[in-house]
Amino acid sequence: KKMTSTEIRQMYLDFFKEKGHTIEPSASLLPVDDPTLLWINSGVATLKKYFDGSVVPENPRITNAQKSIRTNDIENVGKTARHHTLFEMLGNFSIGDYFKPEAINWAWELLTSEKWFAFDPEKLYVTVYPKDLEAKRIWLEEVKLPKDHLVEVEDNFWDIGQGPSGPDTEIFYDRGQSFNNLAEDDPENYPGGENERYLEVWNIVFSEFNHTPENTYEPLPHQNIDTGMGLERVVSIFQNAKTNFETDLFLPLIDATEKMSDNKKYDDNEQDDISFKVIADHARAISFAIGDGALPSNEGRGYVIRRLIRRAVMHGQKLGIEGSFLTSLVPVVGNIMKDYYPEVLEQAEYISKIVRSEEERFNETLKDGLQLLNNLIETTKAENKSELSGAGVFKLYDTYGFPFELTKEYAEDEGLSVDQEGFNAEMQQQKERARAARGNAKSMGVQNGLLTDIKTVSEYVGYTHPDVNETEI
Ligand code: ATP
Ligand code: MG
Ligand code: MG
Ligand code: MG
Repeated sequence: KKMTSTEIRQMYLDFFKEKGHTIEPSASLLPVDDPTLLWINSGVATLKKYFDGSVVPENPRITNAQKSIRTNDIENVGKTARHHTLFEMLGNFSIGDYFKPEAINWAWELLTSEKWFAFDPEKLYVTVYPKDLEAKRIWLEEVKLPKDHLVEVEDNFWDIGQGPSGPDTEIFYDRGQSFNNLAEDDPENYPGGENERYLEVWNIVFSEFNHTPENTYEPLPHQNIDTGMGLERVVSIFQNAKTNFETDLFLPLIDATEKMSDNKKYDDNEQDDISFKVIADHARAISFAIGDGALPSNEGRGYVIRRLIRRAVMHGQKLGIEGSFLTSLVPVVGNIMKDYYPEVLEQAEYISKIVRSEEERFNETLKDGLQLLNNLIETTKAENKSELSGAGVFKLYDTYGFPFELTKEYAEDEGLSVDQEGFNAEMQQQKERARAARGNAKSMGVQNGLLTDIKTVSEYVGYTHPDVNETEI
């Protein structure tokens, strides 16, 4: 089907509305009353209050499209076909209401029915937790998924250490070997493996255990459903795109960037394409984040914004763009997203102002910083070393505003690593100098959290998981 991203998002919400769900608007990217999260990073993150029982929803069936930021994917952006820093997660949720049979059958109906997404069922693969016999039974007996499209994956258990947890089932779209980055016989070339062929589109979590502080798993009084589908990935399937970026969600940003560049064209060479993708991605993330009230700074959320802006500016430099340019992408983001997220276009002027001042500030030191960085790389290579010195990396950070991660990435492109311990030691010394200079003043908060990435939800932590179900198929 030929559909726009706006229509696809709406179709998802309409489908679940038909199944009795209430549509919740997207919440802000900034978590409310949740000290464990720096950014909202999934649809369920804003609904925790219902899952933990502290608020009872009017309707136990909820669906949403939620703007989300994942900083753990920053370095994937531009390199994989499917990762963004800001993306939209479509979700349907059951708060102690329906469970596995409905969640699985509805997922299949939405994806394959002619009335809805109408994906070719032949292209769909499913992974399940090996011990989740109930989910396996539903897929095989109710959905009638062919056995060779069902893959057991030990990792399919959602566990964030403590609290609600349970097995999940994930749905993959086979884009064909021509899109793969791996050889057909590579051991990672399966749905769930790290490859570009089988695109993970949907994760359906069966939240049925409470992971206790004593590391046991107790059945929850209410079983919940929590799902997440990446809108950009689904749009890439509808629009037959090579990556998420050749879709109506990103192409206007890439076009605008081409026009500002030094005659660079998208889809000409891989290096430039990475730069185009990073700029398009980061322009979205910073526009939304600033629109929701975050500001560039040296710590926490603000540092993420600073890092994204500076990374985008660095890639602009690679494309031969002179002066400030990110600013001009803010209204482009606003226009692409205005149907569901009017807040960016409405605040475009304010957001642009913040981006411009941050951009200009970095532009002042970028040229000199790059020169220092290139000298550093040359001398390191000339001395037959493989690691940039901590002192050099610190000077880039301190004097030229180069985020540590940015220098690291740049060095890695040149086949070099960076001395992180040395950098940390320099940072520590500077803090001590500052403390001494201030005498007994308040404790240092400024650089806190600089190198520690945020606590991202949803990493599998490898506990011994319980049996989910005892019925054999
Ligand atoms: P992947 O394995 O591809 O990194 P994930 O398993 O980390 O994805 P989940 O935490 O299961 O992702 O999130 C649910 C869905 O959200 C995914 O199936 C995917 O469609 C989408 N998604 C996750 N991370 C991103 C991202 N960085 N950019 C775009 N979409 C994403
Ligand atoms: Mg991931
Ligand atoms: Mg995954
Ligand atoms: Mg997943």
